[in-house]
Amino acid sequence: MKNIRNFCIIAHIDHGKSTLADRLLEFTQTVQVTKGQMLDNMDLEKERGITIKSHAIQMEYTYKGEKFILNLIDTPGHVDFSYEVSRSIAACEGALLIVDASQGVQAQTISNLYMAIEHDLEIIPIINKCDMASAMPEEVEDEIVELLGSKREEIIRASGKTGMGIEEILSAVIERVPAPKGSDDAPLQALIFDSVFNSFRGIIAYFKIENGVIRSGDKVKFFNTGKEYDADEIGVLKMDLLPRKELSTGDVGYIISGIKTSKEVKVGDTITHISRPCDKAISGFEEVKPMVFAGVYPIDAEDFEDLRASLEKLQLNDASLTFQPESSLALGFGFRCGFLGLLHMEIVQERLDREFDMNVITTVPNVSYLIYDKQGHVKEVHNPGGMPDPTLIEHIEEPYIKSSIITTTDYIGPIMTLCLGKRGELIKQEYISGSRVELHYNMPLGEIVIDFYDKLKSISKGYASFDYQMDGFRTSKLIKLDILLNGEPVDALSTLTHFDNAYDMGRRMCEKLKELIPRQQFDIAIQAAIGSKIISRETIKALRKDVTAKCYGGDVSRKRKLLEKQKKGKKRMKQIGNVEVPQKAFLAVLKLD
Ligand code: GDP
Ligand code: MG
Repeated sequence: MKNIRNFCIIAHIDHGKSTLADRLLEFTQTVQVTKGQMLDNMDLEKERGITIKSHAIQMEYTYKGEKFILNLIDTPGHVDFSYEVSRSIAACEGALLIVDASQGVQAQTISNLYMAIEHDLEIIPIINKCDMASAMPEEVEDEIVELLGSKREEIIRASGKTGMGIEEILSAVIERVPAPKGSDDAPLQALIFDSVFNSFRGIIAYFKIENGVIRSGDKVKFFNTGKEYDADEIGVLKMDLLPRKELSTGDVGYIISGIKTSKEVKVGDTITHISRPCDKAISGFEEVKPMVFAGVYPIDAEDFEDLRASLEKLQLNDASLTFQPESSLALGFGFRCGFLGLLHMEIVQERLDREFDMNVITTVPNVSYLIYDKQGHVKEVHNPGGMPDPTLIEHIEEPYIKSSIITTTDYIGPIMTLCLGKRGELIKQEYISGSRVELHYNMPLGEIVIDFYDKLKSISKGYASFDYQMDGFRTSKLIKLDILLNGEPVDALSTLTHFDNAYDMGRRMCEKLKELIPRQQFDIAIQAAIGSKIISRETIKALRKDVTAKCYGGDVSRKRKLLEKQKKGKKRMKQIGNVEVPQKAFLAVLKLD
């Protein structure tokens, strides 16, 4: 145990975690890195260049003649997956804090660092990408000293590209990160920090043993769910799974025990023995609750059951995805899905399309609301369509976040204007170094869900980073804004919005929908309404369009091609009454200027 080091890599997104991990694997000859980002093995992760799931891998390294086992846990950097980051961190004794030499400290650098500090990890600060011409290692060093109070000589300069600093990092891991504590003789207590679904083997849960020993074939129990299993196979994580007979305190490993769905395994749960259980679970277990919801509907009504099957399959390896059948007058039968955040939502949508070939319409995302009625009952609503009659409502509460935005002084003005428009409340403003500032805002989550990131990025020309955590519910003056097409309300286009913004929002929705809905054979009236009151109106003029007219009837193959093209273009359309509405229109509210 004294020769084990468990550590993770934390950083703001794109600061080079995965690349640096590749270099460490290479240097310790754990793998031959043939392609970039060895640990990101989902297609989507590779394409987007982001880490979605945490990954763990064991390296062996001989240092001053002694053999060490180094368990590296690569963590996702995006806010949506911060619970996974926090569990990965809980399985480690040390963290490499990576800061991009040209970007400096960013919002997720700080939020991840706080998590690491909360878990008492030894922090090894690293300035990465020192090979870049735009690197400013001195300035970044100042920021790190300011942030961590570390000594300058403790900060390692590195490059995942050239391999600079890699050996120094490995030495620091061995010298500075403490060996895991705990006792082999105590009852088994292993923290589940991640789980993955494998179509052949079922769920593979990753754990770190805090106390005790586990042997293959042991009868084990998951503390919080209370479920009992046989440890059919246990082992360590190399590039592949490597079975072992026994794992002991401090080890990071995996267990396969005939679990079929991710719902049974909760990240953060504790594994113990049935015969000699530990008396309490490892602390900090919480169930992650989805905060962002959207309707997902099949384009073809017959695909409803297929969609259910696809969502069930997705849920096998993504326990944070929730779904419940719902129906919409406009869209028919579908599901209300719950996501951790917007990125998670996009990923699910893309996976449905790619891995399951499901053609779906998704509605505007919204948050969860607490509706207090006049009898004093509380109801959680995940869909603006599910709101009770306004006359029955006493008040509505919506989720708030505590957020942090890091930027340079040049952009403070526009960012403050943006946040004000999003009902943000400035809590404080702190200088990080020279011209860089951290702004603390309290804001409604519902405002972030709708086009916040894109706006922040464009007004700051990319020089702003953002991070948040949930901060409870607050009473808000929210009202339901309805959209009518040719006089018929389209439930899937309803949103909840703050009273003060409702008129403006209604007008902009109508304008945007006019742009997004193609002209058809008849006039289409688009109206925004609050209750029975129409607050805005636009009309799409009729168009008599015969796409094949140009073909003079002669060229049959060309005509067929055009018809196919038109059919394809129709794929993501939904018939509402007699109006054909494209997918884009359901997300119009995200694209308001
Ligand atoms: P992650 O999001 O923290 O995992 O970051 P990645 O490892 O995916 O790196 C983000 C981007 O930075 C990629 O385009 C990398 O090729 C690039 N990158 C990573 N490390 C370095 C480095 O040391 N030097 C340079 N010049 N580029 C790097
Ligand atoms: Mg990565």
